[in-house]
Amino acid sequence: MSDINISYEFFPPKSEVSSRNLLSVAKKLKRFDPAFVSVTYGAGGTTQARTFDAVKDIAQAGLKTAAHLTCVDATQAEIDAIVDGYYDAGIRNIVALRGDSPNGIDKAYTPTPGGYAYGSDLVAGIKSRHADMDVSVSAYPERHPESGHWDAEIDNLKRKVDAGADRAITQYFFKADTFLSFVDKVRAAGVDLPIVPGIMLQPNFEGLCNMSAKCGVAVPPDVRARFDRAAGDKDALKDETTAFATGLIEDLKAGGVKDFHLYTLNKSAIASTVTRAITPAARRATQAA
Ligand code: FAD
Repeated sequence: MSDINISYEFFPPKSEVSSRNLLSVAKKLKRFDPAFVSVTYGAGGTTQARTFDAVKDIAQAGLKTAAHLTCVDATQAEIDAIVDGYYDAGIRNIVALRGDSPNGIDKAYTPTPGGYAYGSDLVAGIKSRHADMDVSVSAYPERHPESGHWDAEIDNLKRKVDAGADRAITQYFFKADTFLSFVDKVRAAGVDLPIVPGIMLQPNFEGLCNMSAKCGVAVPPDVRARFDRAAGDKDALKDETTAFATGLIEDLKAGGVKDFHLYTLNKSAIASTVTRAITPAARRATQAA
């Protein structure tokens, strides 16, 4: 897909039916030739087996697939065994995260005794076992809620680079300038890690606002007003989500961004429409099909 690169994020399915649905969504999105797709790891490590199975199934369908992994509630030996299991299954891409407290995203996080404490420690652990694994990490254009100041945020990203991270994927955000000025800060600190903006495709705007409050993402008043006009109408909310994400990506493209990570919520419709809208090559390919 010529000028820009897209990746898609999924969450692990909860049942046989949703597994089949996810595979069908992944196959639909495959026509856009994504750089990779990824499957998240449930809070507290609760989806270990489901994430593993989904990653293997999607990879077998011919998509480069990354497995998310967190440090939560597991010893280093347990995490290392999961990493080795992916490696033996031919998976070479991991998204390495610290994760949140099993008691809730807004509760204090305590490292597990004998575990990897932070995302950077997990990156180092993975790279020490399998130097050829490609490891993505998180980044936060509005700072992680536990980073009291920007120096802490940037120092954390530096630690991840020093540990061998290959790229960062960001938390979602609502304004292109939020991302572009974050990248400027990171570059000014001498960090040249590729940073891919995370683009949220959640049409449940009220739910998204609740989550945003917990994870330190500001919802600008003009964005809220746009979505308020569609409140209560599911189709209008989907249309608004599509239009908003497309506009945000166009603004980022104007700022020189070429890689985009779409949070799909395991649905193909909005992700496909957005991909077609932002990528002339994808438009041509699907028109010809
Ligand atoms: P870290 O990068 O380790 O940092 C967390 C906080 O600790 C930061 O404030 C940092 O400054 C601080 N810190 C780091 N190192 C140190 C240190 N040595 N000393 C003191 N403070 C330190 N969650 C899931 O459960 N499953 C997923 O699949 C998942 N996927 C995600 C994908 C992306 C792209 C993103 C952006 C987030 C994802 N999350 C996921 C959420 C993530 O787990 C939470 O945001 C979590 O709170 C932080 O994880 P992290 O890897 O960013 O933490």
